[in-house]
Amino acid sequence: KRRIAIMTSGGDSPGMNPAIRAVVRMGIDKGCDVYGVYEGYEGLVQGGDLIRQFQWSEVRGWLSEGGTLIGTARCMAFYERAGRLKAAKNMVLHGIDALIICGGDGSLTGADKFRSEWPDLVQELVDTKQLTAEQTKPYKHLNIVGLVGSIDNDMSGTDATIGCFSALGRICEMVDYIEATASSHSRAFVIEVMGRHCGWLALMAGVATGADFIFIPEKPRPEKWREEMCAVVAHHRQNGKRKTIVIVAEGAYDQEGNKITPEMIKDLLADKEGLALDTRITTLGHVQRGGSACAYDRYLGTLQGVEAVRAVLDATPDTPSPFIAVNENKITRKPLMQAVLDTKEVANAIAAKDFDRAMSLRDTEFSD
Ligand code: ADP
Repeated sequence: KRRIAIMTSGGDSPGMNPAIRAVVRMGIDKGCDVYGVYEGYEGLVQGGDLIRQFQWSEVRGWLSEGGTLIGTARCMAFYERAGRLKAAKNMVLHGIDALIICGGDGSLTGADKFRSEWPDLVQELVDTKQLTAEQTKPYKHLNIVGLVGSIDNDMSGTDATIGCFSALGRICEMVDYIEATASSHSRAFVIEVMGRHCGWLALMAGVATGADFIFIPEKPRPEKWREEMCAVVAHHRQNGKRKTIVIVAEGAYDQEGNKITPEMIKDLLADKEGLALDTRITTLGHVQRGGSACAYDRYLGTLQGVEAVRAVLDATPDTPSPFIAVNENKITRKPLMQAVLDTKEVANAIAAKDFDRAMSLRDTEFSD
């Protein structure tokens, strides 16, 4: 009988609970025992009560619950081999040989490292007499399957991450709220949205709300972005628009690599010598992350959770760890580490100010 564990790690996102529910129920349906690991990698390292078996009925109602009900955390101990050794011991003690993990690229990198070290870790547990050879015999290999939970939609190789459409919907709703008051007072608003290395949320929200101007990490505006933005806003105002909305991703930079902050934009719009607009800043913050998942994320989490269990049951010791993606509306399995490397490459290109390369690595189409 297979024993599969499901864990959420890194930043939470709406749709993680539907994914957990699907893993639990598909796993049980396929005759497996399914365990929940609480508090991310912390639960694996500490073991005990943080690893608990799930019954079918325990995930009832989880489709409409936001965040993750099994908790998530950043775990320093898991970066160290000693922490991963403890985690391996706890997994063997619980008889778990497969781990489905829903998290961002950091969490998935950690999971793949754990998998590649697994035979050595188990051997070390025997050599140091923490476990007997008999105990570890059935646990020669560890299967890892990744699910990408992130509001940023920042993973290469998949069209959408679990949570990104909920966050996008939330942003659009918030911009609608702001627009009503902006119009009334003829004000300008600079709205900061999440996305450190990825402008997907800012770009899509800009398109979906008809924002006047957006700033994203992958495509810094030309050197004269100040003049450009003010000219666009002035043009819209001349056409009778009574509100100005500028959306800025938290990781936006100019071409020289200087951070573009909401304060800088506000100062420009409010400049007495220029547009002289009554300008306010709204940082949306964690409202983008919280709340229940939209229909798409419930559906995506569910279908991907089901596929993750299938991938565990199909895995052989030689197949590299997969992650579950969605491409052109089909749920697919793809090599995990390739996607992680591709994702890192975008972040590296942005850090190196090679913006053309960063843009070309993104799947989203974008033109001037
Ligand atoms: P995210 O998964 O959202 O990208 P983090 O990068 O913070 O978030 O990763 C979450 C957790 O995953 C970390 O706190 C750590 O426990 C584990 N982790 C991340 N990267 C690694 C790594 N290279 N090696 C081992 N564990 C890692």
